[in-house]
Amino acid sequence: MDGTTREHINPANPSQMIGYTVPAIAEEVNEAVKHAKSAFSQWKQLSPVERGEVLRKAADILEAQSQDIAETATKEMGKRLIEMKGEVLRGASILRYYAQEGMRKLGEVLPSANSQNTLYSVRVPLGVISVITPWNFPVAIPIWKIAPALVYGNTVVWKPSQETGITAVKIASVFEQAGLPPGVLNLLNGSGEIVGNALVEHPETAAITFTGSNRVGRELASKAVAQNKKYQLELGGKNPVIVLEDADLDLAAKLTVEGAMKQTGQRCTATSRVYVEQSIYDPFIEKLLGHTALIKVGDGLNEAVTMGPVASKKQFDTVTSYIRKGLEEGAEILYGGNALYDPVYHGGYFIEPTIFGQVTNEMTIAREEIFGPVLAVIKVAGYNEALAQANDTIYGLSASLFTTNLNKAFDFIKNSEVGMVQINGETGGAEPQAPFGGMKESSSGTREQGQAAMEFFTAYKTVSLTT
Ligand code: NAD
Repeated sequence: MDGTTREHINPANPSQMIGYTVPAIAEEVNEAVKHAKSAFSQWKQLSPVERGEVLRKAADILEAQSQDIAETATKEMGKRLIEMKGEVLRGASILRYYAQEGMRKLGEVLPSANSQNTLYSVRVPLGVISVITPWNFPVAIPIWKIAPALVYGNTVVWKPSQETGITAVKIASVFEQAGLPPGVLNLLNGSGEIVGNALVEHPETAAITFTGSNRVGRELASKAVAQNKKYQLELGGKNPVIVLEDADLDLAAKLTVEGAMKQTGQRCTATSRVYVEQSIYDPFIEKLLGHTALIKVGDGLNEAVTMGPVASKKQFDTVTSYIRKGLEEGAEILYGGNALYDPVYHGGYFIEPTIFGQVTNEMTIAREEIFGPVLAVIKVAGYNEALAQANDTIYGLSASLFTTNLNKAFDFIKNSEVGMVQINGETGGAEPQAPFGGMKESSSGTREQGQAAMEFFTAYKTVSLTT
């Protein structure tokens, strides 16, 4: 510890300090890796079923403490309590999924040309895994990395976002209460530049799993490659929705608004562009604005509120600067656009749900990840133009098409350049048994979740046993 503390401020009420954390210093990264290395030698000896048992207990404890943990996270980063509670319970179901993983197959027997030979491959753990996570899913993302890392026999050093360090302490404590042996999971709070960087550069970790921005992801990848280290990156998105004239417009409008505004737009899979066939542009916009008008902005602890603040002053400044940029470049505000932040009268980092019309694909708001409650609407002649524009981006995380035309649905599944495609659904990921991740610059390395997780957190060992 460097003797300084970091205060954690409630973004719905920045005058409220909800607690503090003490950032680690670079030398403590060495100690954490040392502990994780030493714990690895025993942890990997347990059977996967025994390791799964600890995850099952952690799931029960997380569930029992879900209200307290969700309230802490809501106060720390603003997500509505109901959404945060859902995320904590999702964390419990991810833990249960990986607990079961300890009972599934961990290798395969292969035929051999030699009848005296038994040829098989087993999956073995890698060693110490560096886990670096963002603030926007402060519970689910760490758990979907830590749980598979542990069940396959690895140990972990985890650096959460410093925006959500208090929530992280509660999550680490859940694992401790579940009986995880000391050293198997090591939490280091602190900045990316100091603690994250020291962890990434540490020579004795076996792999790095990272979720966060493209800027940091790119830096991290080059460091991992230089060390010949396995890495997995889940990065940003600019997720499009296409609405065709044969779609259920009510459903499309409702799910486009939810996809864009849920979690105040701070999801890597948030809908940020919607391409609308010109023949239904006006009725669709009417429905879109109707759904947006139902949103009530405020403190996420209040049950009547349907959209909380953005997570921090930094987020507030970034999102409002994109709104200004949209106006400067000639887009027209169809709804919202106002920042509700007022240091004197209110103080919370609130931004109205904002919908831009008259957008072209070249505008900044149609190209860059905003990570806030801002949606760009783009009028197109038809499906082909929409698909071409939707694909015209560096990102490739999630995309959605609303249509009742089966041919177009299959065409979109085949030709949309994303890792997760939805037909008549909201942009986003799926359940823990399905692979999660993107194409292009949205992801790098093996996907997360489901069987893909085993690919990342284990290595093959081929065995040839001759009798
Ligand atoms: P960020 O990149 O700023 O930070 C992510 C983590 O990296 C934090 O723990 C941070 O402290 C750490 N970090 C920062 N600099 C570092 C460095 N030099 N070395 C090592 N670690 C460092 O991202 P954020 O603002 O916390 O999160 C928002 C971003 O995350 C968005 O771009 C969003 O799209 C992305 N995200 C992606 C997914 C996905 O699954 N694809 C999910 C959630 C969020």
